[in-house]
Formats: sequence, C-alpha cells, structure tokens
Amino acid sequence: MKPIVAIVGRPNVGKSTLVNRLAGTNDAIVHESRGVTRDRSYHDADWNGREFTLVDTGGIEPMKSDDVFSTSIRDQALAAAEEADVVLFVVDGSVGVTEEDESVARMLKRVKKPVLLLVNKLDNPAREDERLWEFYSLGIGDPRPISAHHGHGTGDLLDEVVSLLPEEGEDEDDPYPDALGVAIIGRPNAGKSSLFNKIIGSERSIVSDIAGTTRDAIDTYVERDGRRYRLVDTAGIRKKSTVYENIEYYSMVRGLRAIDRADVALLVVDSGVGMTEQDQKVANLAIDRGCALVILLNKWDLLDDDYKREQALDTVNRRMTLAPWAPILRISALTGRSVEKIWKLIDAAAAERAKTISTSALNRFLTGLREFGHTVVDGKRRLRMHYVTQTGTNPPAFTFFVNHPDLVNDTYRRYVENRMRAEFGFEGTPIRLYFHKKH
Ligand code: GDP
Ligand code: GDP
Repeated sequence: MKPIVAIVGRPNVGKSTLVNRLAGTNDAIVHESRGVTRDRSYHDADWNGREFTLVDTGGIEPMKSDDVFSTSIRDQALAAAEEADVVLFVVDGSVGVTEEDESVARMLKRVKKPVLLLVNKLDNPAREDERLWEFYSLGIGDPRPISAHHGHGTGDLLDEVVSLLPEEGEDEDDPYPDALGVAIIGRPNAGKSSLFNKIIGSERSIVSDIAGTTRDAIDTYVERDGRRYRLVDTAGIRKKSTVYENIEYYSMVRGLRAIDRADVALLVVDSGVGMTEQDQKVANLAIDRGCALVILLNKWDLLDDDYKREQALDTVNRRMTLAPWAPILRISALTGRSVEKIWKLIDAAAAERAKTISTSALNRFLTGLREFGHTVVDGKRRLRMHYVTQTGTNPPAFTFFVNHPDLVNDTYRRYVENRMRAEFGFEGTPIRLYFHKKH
C-alpha cells in the first residue's frame, strides 16, 4: 500500500498545477486507463524510487448532482487530511491570507499529521520573502515558497515529503501473506458494514490488528474451505463513528486505500438508489488499480415490484458499459439472501485474474484476429499485429507487437479486448493490453 499525500487548499491556489508538476510524467495509471476513466483525482508519484499517491482534493469538486452532500472546502480538506500520511496545504502567495485559508489552517492544526504549508505562485525567487511573512500567521510553521507553474521549490519539497512518509514495509506485518485480499467498497449507507458483519458472523474469522501502524488498518481473516481471505478494512467499516462518515469524498479516499490492498473489490450498491456516478468512479478506480470487481446490488429485499428491480439493474448496465465483464449479484445483507454466493464469485474472479494463456492459444487468437478482424488504416499505413505474449498476471496483461502502435485508438483497443474476452473469458477481472513497436 502506497502512502498518501493529500493536497488541500481553496480553489484556484494551484493545487492541480502542483499535482501535475509533482506527478510529472510518472502518471502511469492515468495513462494506462485511457478510455476507462478520465478522472484525475489521484496520481501516482515517484521520487528517487519512493512511491506514493497524490490525492488532489480539488479534482473531486464540485460535487455532482447525485450527491446529497455539498461539502465545504474545509470538510473536504479534513477528510483528505484524516486519510493522508502527509498533507500539503497550498495557499496563494499572490493573494495573501484569506479567511478560508485560516479556517483550513485551524482544522489542520487539530489533525495530527505532518503538514507542509506551501505558498504558491511565488514565481520570482528573488522577490519571495516579503510575501512569505504574512503566512506565518496561519500557525502551520514555516511557509515554503514554491511556484507550481515554474517548478521553483518543488524538488526540495519532494525531498521533504519523502522524508516525512512512514517507513517502508512498516505495515507489512501480514500474518497470512497468501490470503486473498477482498475490499468492500461503496457509498455511505450502501450496506458495507452490514455485509461485513454478516460475513464475519457466519464464518470462522480472525481479527488482526496490525501493530504499529499509523493508519488504522484492521484486517479480518476469514477461512473457508481451506482458503484464506483477508477482508481489507481501513477502519471505516468497523468503526462507524466519525462525523465524516457522510462525506462521499471520504468514503472515496477510503475505498481507494482499501482497493490498493485488495485483489478483489466488492462494490456494494444500494438497489433502492441504483448505481450512481460515484459508484461508477469507485468501480473505475478498482479497475485502474487492477482489482477484480464484483457488483453487489444490496437491499434487494426492499424492491417490491418488477419495475423497481429492472430499474436497479438498468442503472448498473448503463454505468458499466466499459466493464460489462463485472458479475452482478443481487443480495440482501439484512436477510442474508445470496450472501453465501458471493464467495463463489470472489473465487471465480480471482482465478480469472490469475489466469495464464498459453502462447500457442495466443497465436491462434492472433491468426483469427488477422483473418476475421478489423484493423486500423490511416492513409497508407495499416496496423499489423506481429506477435502477442502474456506479460503479466493479477491482472492478466498482454503485449502486442505491432508495426505502428500510434494507430491503436480506444475503439480498436476495446475491440481487441472484447475479442480476447470472447475467446478466453476473464469474467470479473480487468485485463491490460499494451501495444509496442516491433523492432
Ligand atoms: P486549483 O483550483 O487549486 O487546482 O488551482 P489550479 O491548479 O487550477 O490553478 C489555478 C490558476 O493558478 C491557474 O490559472 C494556474 O495556471 C495558476 N497557477 C498555478 N500555479 C501557479 C504558479 O506557480 N504561478 C502562477 N503565476 N500561476 C499559477
Ligand atoms: P454502510 O454505510 O455502507 O456501511 O451501510 P450500513 O451497513 O451501515 O447500512 C446502512 C443502512 O442500510 C442500515 O440501516 C442497514 O440496516 C441498512 N441495510 C443494509 N443492508 C440492507 C439490506 O440488504 N436490506 C435492507 N432493507 N436494509 C439494509
């Protein structure tokens, strides 16, 4: 699990500019997920080999129409800070201290996390001092001058961020490293804790408090038919007491952390509400991060007529057009309906995610694709696929060697993926396709 660095501050101070500068070209996940999601609220960063995840709170604003809660900047910043290992508090040096800055600062003082105060838009290093002084009044320590735009100060900043991250391997006290990681994710009130408790109540389970963590990660191991599962919890499901339980954003960041440590994600959807945009985002995050995905339409017991049932299923189908391979199960965490069946889907998805395809089968597939498939033509250039090989598992990854990789667009990529799924299955798991130039 990578440490999280949250970037907070009011709109327009330069948070996204800073994220782009810090994440630089290492934005592998965002790049890989082209065509899956264009949401850039989290970013992988790497500084001298130390990896972490940057979370840009600004990227999640404004809350969309299907979110009941409109949260203040302060609340969002608080939610982000609660989940982060290091907080970067960005203010605008060309404007000076504002009331909103002060409100965020007061809140950050109560959060016991390292906070760096960054005074942005100080583009001219020679002139920075005079503007810096007033930011001492925020009481967050030494203000650091930066220019997200020009990059001044960002190298030093990264050094400092990395020095504040928790020791690597601190959390890797896993008593059963071979257990399958399962994350229960979804919006507030979807029924995650009910499901968790139902599962725990009916199976042999062992709670493992991982000692010495700063992060409140409490995993529960479940043993079933000789197989071990690790139910990933980032304190959210078990301890439902925080005031911030209702903040969508908070559950999103928490979901992201859980996903990071899971092989299979169970997305719990409230059937009465149907699948929302937020659910779709979280599903995409799971897919981007290579998790297998099972969709659980929970509270099915509440849908008392066919029309409502159809509507609920409809919302899933509409929102999951890019991942129609995710199995959907109708359950009730309350009555226990079909909860038992979840295990089968977890096992099946995990098996597909670990699957390898033989080279000969891949070659046959490629021959079929050449003979009976579409290709891409651009003027005189025609895409030719020379060779394919499996380059990864968990999730399965395949590299195609082609003559002109730049001809591969989203449509073609999707077409090849659909053909592969028709041939090899992969139900419940994302697959990765790479197209490289053949030398
Ligand atoms: P966010 O809302 O906090 O994410 O802010 P943005 O990153 O979108 O930046 C808001 C505006 O400030 C944009 O017009 C940026 O180009 C500008 N900006 C960001 N960083 C700097 C900087 O270091 N110097 C200057 N002069 N402008 C900046
Ligand atoms: P969480 O916020 O996702 O952890 O959701 P909870 O597990 O706390 O559930 C929210 C509410 O929905 C609670 O009042 C539960 O009793 C209720 N609930 C959860 N699952 C079901 C279900 O399958 N059917 C019904 N009728 N209610 C449910």
